[in-house]
Amino acid sequence: MQESNTFNVKRRQLLKLSGALAGGIALAGLNRSALANAASGNTPFTTPTADNPIRINFNENPLGMSPKAQAAARDAVAKANRYAKDEIVTLRSKLASLHQVPESAILLTAGSSEGIRAAIEAYATLGTQLVIPELTYGDGEHFARIAGMKITKVPMLAGWQFDIDGLKQAVASYSGPSLVYLVNPNNPTATITPADLIEPWIAAKPANTMFIVDEAYAEFVNDPRFRSVNPLVSQGADNVILLKTFSKIFAMAGMRVGYAVAQPAIVAHLSNHVAGEKINFCGVDAALASLDDHAFITYSKKSNDTSRQILLDALIALKISYLPSEGNFVFHQLSVPLKEFQQHMKQAGVLIGRAFPPADAWCRISLGTPQEMTFVAKTLHEFRAKGWV
Ligand code: PLP
Repeated sequence: MQESNTFNVKRRQLLKLSGALAGGIALAGLNRSALANAASGNTPFTTPTADNPIRINFNENPLGMSPKAQAAARDAVAKANRYAKDEIVTLRSKLASLHQVPESAILLTAGSSEGIRAAIEAYATLGTQLVIPELTYGDGEHFARIAGMKITKVPMLAGWQFDIDGLKQAVASYSGPSLVYLVNPNNPTATITPADLIEPWIAAKPANTMFIVDEAYAEFVNDPRFRSVNPLVSQGADNVILLKTFSKIFAMAGMRVGYAVAQPAIVAHLSNHVAGEKINFCGVDAALASLDDHAFITYSKKSNDTSRQILLDALIALKISYLPSEGNFVFHQLSVPLKEFQQHMKQAGVLIGRAFPPADAWCRISLGTPQEMTFVAKTLHEFRAKGWV
């Protein structure tokens, strides 16, 4: 059976090899709070205010970077008069081994945003259409508009699921080339599209079609129906670009490190659309440290699972519908206008997600720390008493 994601595969292998499982178990007890304090810079939970709100509006990781990554980034400052030449080579090589591809199959980018832009620009030849589900992460459409591409949006199925048959149809009925941008798990819905729907489509190699698969949130997934497209790439598929980021599970959003994984010829093509893989020194060293910090990866995932459950318990108790979340955010239904809900939340010291048309009666709440989500759950119960939710 294929594993749900590459980091999990390697982590399990390494945990087995080094006997570090015991360390992981200890994490559930005392070590966990020590790690939490270290990661968050020892900031204890304080009741939020309008000036110091709980920020659960941008799908950021609330834990802070791993203590080891923070130390690596601090140390890198002293070297940052230089370009991170050797370190970039090391990072590329480490990622290549993690994804079981040659080094030439990895392109480092300034966050996965730069990867999305590069992939779209590289394939935005005259007459190419971008095919996207109607409700998905906006960068694909944004960069395609700048590139002057035709954009084909396919309506969603019930439960805001991707209509893979509809997407296939959009590709098949178009006379020119297609770029298909699939976000899995999707944002803002946090739902997955089962691999059994994606893999055969890519493997069938529809003519003149390149797939960009954005797996920014893959490490948070629990649903076994999800599988990364990584094995397709490592087995030679030449019609798919996998995009990854250090912004989510590794809590490095502000460091701006991401990468693309694809066949070397595709990577060479993409590399014409980035500024020479000149990733910042602090980000590169923090990424290297993060990849080795298996305890933090485990902690980051567990903390997200705990926070999600706290929020879901509140939504269930309040009979608020939500979509099954496989990311670090939850998409739930509203019974009041989003603007009103946002405003009340802001007054309570909580910043929540923006509007995501066409899902106008829905709200995205990113997952903060378990303590933050306990506060949010309590706030939701209070809002119900006031008729605000
Ligand atoms: N892809 C998806 C699906 C996202 O949700 C985001 C950010 O939220 C990004 C890419 C961009 O992230 P970054 O540029 O920080 O890697």
